[in-house]
Amino acid sequence: MKQIMKKRESMKLKLRTKLSVSYLLIGLLCILAISIFSNIFLEKSFIKYVIKNQDVKNKALVEQIASQFDESGQWDYLSIESLGITALEQGIILRVEDENGAEIWDATVHNSGMCEAMIEHMAASMMENVPDWQGEYVENNYEVSKAGGRVGNVVIGFYGPYYYTESDVAFIKTLNRLLLVVSLMAIVLSLVIGAIMARRISQPLSKVMETAGRISKGNFEARSVEHSTTIEIHALIQSINELAETLENQEKLRQRLTSDVAHELRTPLATLQSHMEAMIDGIWVADAARLTSCHDEIVRISSLVGDLEKLAKFEREMSTGERNPVDFKQLVINQVKNFETDFYKKSITIALEIPDNDQISYEIMADKNQMNQVVVNILSNAYKYTCENSEIIVRLAATTSDIVFEVQDFGIGIAETDLPFIFERFYRAEQSRNRMSGGAGIGLTITQAIVKAHGGTIDVVSELGKGSTFKVRVPKG
Ligand code: ADP
Repeated sequence: MKQIMKKRESMKLKLRTKLSVSYLLIGLLCILAISIFSNIFLEKSFIKYVIKNQDVKNKALVEQIASQFDESGQWDYLSIESLGITALEQGIILRVEDENGAEIWDATVHNSGMCEAMIEHMAASMMENVPDWQGEYVENNYEVSKAGGRVGNVVIGFYGPYYYTESDVAFIKTLNRLLLVVSLMAIVLSLVIGAIMARRISQPLSKVMETAGRISKGNFEARSVEHSTTIEIHALIQSINELAETLENQEKLRQRLTSDVAHELRTPLATLQSHMEAMIDGIWVADAARLTSCHDEIVRISSLVGDLEKLAKFEREMSTGERNPVDFKQLVINQVKNFETDFYKKSITIALEIPDNDQISYEIMADKNQMNQVVVNILSNAYKYTCENSEIIVRLAATTSDIVFEVQDFGIGIAETDLPFIFERFYRAEQSRNRMSGGAGIGLTITQAIVKAHGGTIDVVSELGKGSTFKVRVPKG
């Protein structure tokens, strides 16, 4: 098993090598395909062409000879001899007979030595150029007719089934040379293009690998600046960069959370410590007022821990948050009812303004628990930061695509300088800090994160001393 693994390990090749070899193989396969094609089809077609050409030549010769038979029924011997000699020089052995088969002119009689030499030369030339060629001397018989009647016979002897003339051989040689040049060019081009393409693909991948390596070692600031025109590689570079950014943000968040928690705990713990020490040393009497003050600090710490637990739970669920149909109108009505006793105790009247129209749907695709959290957080803030004998207005409206949830209070309001930060983790406006009525400053952070995760927005309009209006818009789908 280990050996197989080792063998596989050693068989691993660089992408660049693989791509270059692939291109070369494709080049070689193309050359092989062209060679087979030219050997089988091109050669066959050329032979057909040569045979046809021979036949055309023979027929033209017969025509010429036929024209040597004049009106008076006589053959022009001299012209036939001249035609026969010219034909012999081109490798055609001619014999002309009259209608009775009597010889008029015969190349073998005229020059038997030359005929034999010609046939030998043709055989040798063919054997040299086409090694597997099997040919022999063949004779074709053509009838010569004039005015409807047979006037003679022309026998054409040549080397068959086909014979390559010098120009044919030159043509084949040129073609072969051309194929060789094309093949060599294809090999060189496939090597060059293969090497360029392999480099273009493997180089950004190597860089991305390098970046991923640095990220895995904890360097979350590492980014890949490579550019690639290949869609998949471009997407990979983007994914790696996004991964690094997420990890970097997570790391920053983790560090900030730790220091924020330490900071938040330090104040109540220091107060508790100094109070306790003063009481232990007998500087302070442990009376009800001092013990209540210590208790308040402990309540603050517990509430902070509770908020942290909520935040942790929310962050855990955020990624797995389910989307189900949620009747947002019912959800708001239920939460307002839950708050009624608290509002009553503080003599705050609560007005619920929802258009009275059955046609409007308030159903959204959302995580019900998270949406409850949004409504509770905003309502509890309105309650916390509103003085007694006041009023809170809750509005709900819907369009075809969104629902809009709004809570308006006439409480302490938020200073303009605090407004940009109220959604930040652990941020509390100075006013609420002084009044000690606030929590840890996590509620709105969670609210905003939930709304964003549902593709919505949260806005606030507020004026110090006059009140605030929180508006949440969440898409239905
Ligand atoms: P907290 O637990 O302190 O309420 P939040 O994140 O819910 O934390 O709110 C952050 C800060 O925003 C609060 O401390 C408070 O100063 C301010 N704030 C939020 N809602 C209101 C409101 N309705 N009226 C006035 N101030 C508000």
